[in-house]
Amino acid sequence: MTIAVYPGTFDPVHNGHVDIATRAATIFDRVVMAVYDRPLKNLLFTTQERKAMLQQALVDVPNITVTTYNQLTVQLARQLGAQAIVRGLRVTSDFELEFQMALTNKKLAPEIEFVCFMASQDHAFLSASTVKEIAMLGGCVTGMVPCNVAEALKAKFAEPHGEGEARVSLISLRD
Ligand code: ADP
Repeated sequence: MTIAVYPGTFDPVHNGHVDIATRAATIFDRVVMAVYDRPLKNLLFTTQERKAMLQQALVDVPNITVTTYNQLTVQLARQLGAQAIVRGLRVTSDFELEFQMALTNKKLAPEIEFVCFMASQDHAFLSASTVKEIAMLGGCVTGMVPCNVAEALKAKFAEPHGEGEARVSLISLRD
């Protein structure tokens, strides 16, 4: 059985992530979406919220499951018996970071392959930070995120005391 881990922040999951995950699910027997618990980023959604949004967005793909983790990605991959770590590549600026991560992970766990999927043309410029900024400013995110995520963004920015707004203003532009 081939197993792949697709790790990320997913704050929140958008259609670019869904596209990579569903394509990976046609190649691997099982894909585990792994929500990183403590990235060096300011987050809009909690870990549990990010996990629940992913689960709902991918409920129709039976061989995709969702988990959370707070250790090294290669440790999680080993625990799950995964042969590969899946990532997505958008514009060329993603390449440098992903290449560096691939080489580092290869040093830590030589038996695990790092597999990058090219972003689809429709999603190549889609990022979680862009989605959050549009939603914060009251724009329409239809077609960029699953319906449940659009609802969650609306609810987050309707929170009292502008909590969502305060948090998104701290978010760096890099996803
Ligand atoms: P990170 O894991 O770097 O904090 P994300 O959680 O946003 O960032 O992304 C997880 C993975 O999905 C990364 O490999 C990222 O390059 C990829 N990704 C993000 N947006 C897209 C997109 N629009 N199309 C394809 N892949 C993407």
